[in-house]
Amino acid sequence: MWSSRSNRDRKTVVCIACGTSLLRSEAREYDKEGNRWDRHGKEFEFLCKECYRGLCHQPRDELESLLVDIERDGPDRDAFLQRYFGAVEERYGSPEEPES
Ligand SMILES: [Zn+2]
Repeated sequence: MWSSRSNRDRKTVVCIACGTSLLRSEAREYDKEGNRWDRHGKEFEFLCKECYRGLCHQPRDELESLLVDIERDGPDRDAFLQRYFGAVEERYGSPEEPES
């Protein structure tokens, strides 16, 4: 049949925002690093069209680059969190009362 497509198009993914299952071919790829062409070691997430449209487009470049920086040499979870809080504090100051 003319409409038969490859299996790839029939794969189902789940929208990370609302949990709806939809065909991968209908979904929008969401790459937290903003570079879909660098696929090395990545797992993409997906959004349905509706959520993609409602996606917050506020700038978050700093956050993403901060996370990428921290992850660069693949720390384990604890080290990652430690570095994350350290880096945020360093850049933006502590969210809590400064200890004196
Ligand atoms: Zn959705």
